[in-house]
Amino acid sequence: MTPEPTREAALARLAAFLPAAGRRYAETRNADDGPRDNAGRSNVSELSPWLHTGLIGEPEVLAAVLAAHSPRAAEKFIAEVFWRIYFKGYLEQRPAIWADYVTGRDGALAAMERNAGLRTAYTQAVEGRTGIEAFDVWAQELARTGYLHNHARMWFASIWIFTLKLDWRLGADFFLRHLMDGDAASNTLSWRWVAGLHTKGKHYLARADNIARYTAGRPGGPLTAERLADDADPLTEPQDYGRQPLDLPRPVLPADLAQPFALLLHDEAAHHAPLALPAAPALVIGAARPEARSPAAVGALAQGFATGAVAGGMAEAAAAFGCPTAEWCSGEPLAALLAQAGVSRIAVPYLPTGWTRDALRADLAPLEADGRAVTLLGDLDRATWPHAKAGFFGVAKAIDSLLAECGITGSA
Ligand SMILES: Cc1cc2nc3c(=O)[nH]c(=O)nc-3n(C[C@H](O)[C@H](O)[C@H](O)COP(=O)(O)OP(=O)(O)OC[C@H]3O[C@@H](n4cnc5c(N)ncnc54)[C@H](O)[C@@H]3O)c2cc1C
Repeated sequence: MTPEPTREAALARLAAFLPAAGRRYAETRNADDGPRDNAGRSNVSELSPWLHTGLIGEPEVLAAVLAAHSPRAAEKFIAEVFWRIYFKGYLEQRPAIWADYVTGRDGALAAMERNAGLRTAYTQAVEGRTGIEAFDVWAQELARTGYLHNHARMWFASIWIFTLKLDWRLGADFFLRHLMDGDAASNTLSWRWVAGLHTKGKHYLARADNIARYTAGRPGGPLTAERLADDADPLTEPQDYGRQPLDLPRPVLPADLAQPFALLLHDEAAHHAPLALPAAPALVIGAARPEARSPAAVGALAQGFATGAVAGGMAEAAAAFGCPTAEWCSGEPLAALLAQAGVSRIAVPYLPTGWTRDALRADLAPLEADGRAVTLLGDLDRATWPHAKAGFFGVAKAIDSLLAECGITGSA
């Protein structure tokens, strides 16, 4: 089932999944039961494409889950949502990881062009023709559905790196080009985690018995995975990514938006509702840049979800605020759009480290420099990111206090 890139669909999926977000999620979430044609999976939420595009926000998901379940029963699901916030905060403090990924990916793509053997191995992997059944099924499922179960992502990345011995950055790129939830932080850091680069020296080795056990509920029965590497060493790298201090924008006050302003909606913040703006914009600008995920072709589902989310978000914001919209196309100067509308200020939902920031920042930088851009950052991100200094544990132990601090209690 292909999800609709609308807030309405996100809220409907959240409501449908809520009964399963408690103990049932904790007990069953590790099973990859395969995609269903007419309904979502029953053991995981599949909310990730909507969360990535900001059609729904983490605070409202957490509040809904806490309204339906006790904090204890919902502990696992809540922790997973915090993994997403943790990865974002971690990458904000180590943006060089993303920059080096981009450089390394481009180098690996170029190396493949020069090496026919490598090209063949890569093509077999992304087309699902390696002869390792589970891997081949997931490669084709990813391209066909734009989604993979978390466990499948872990096994797939592990087989890619340790059995097929392909460059991890090519695998991360393959994911970003097809995942509707493709996210610079979760994807890059999860691939690095599997490789043994995130938690240095601790890698994830896929095992055939584990794959068979957790794929037993797939319509075609358990998946096989023969001849997997079982004693590979973790990857290493010369760099040591030191942490740079966070420089987060303060909460926006009504006075910051007292003059007419444009609201920017982008790949990671495509809807106004989770932004809780203190004033109405005079113009809504939409900028979707899914093609910036990779120099290679981005899959139709990933492209379509991002562009659909921004286009739909623009229309809904225009209706809510009674204002015009303008599409900011790639290569077009933002200043010209603002000048045409007679607006000089812009409210920009925080652009986390990743391709959307890379694609938009050159045009936004001058507006930031002369104080005409106001950055919007949600309270939960602002409160959580400082805890994402090293391992997830730093965030995990603060979850209860973070929820309380941000008023996410589950009661209306
Ligand atoms: C190699 C690899 C690559 C990944 N790439 C991405 C990616 O590009 N984008 C992405 O959103 N997630 C990524 N993940 C994390 C995770 O697999 C997905 O978030 C999850 O499978 C989404 O499905 P769901 O919404 O049904 O999750 P649920 O299990 O229902 O979890 C609810 C939400 O919590 C968050 N979440 C759950 N598990 C994780 C996790 N391990 N890390 C971070 N957030 C999590 C997601 O926002 C998810 O929607 C990756 C994991 C691996 C191992």
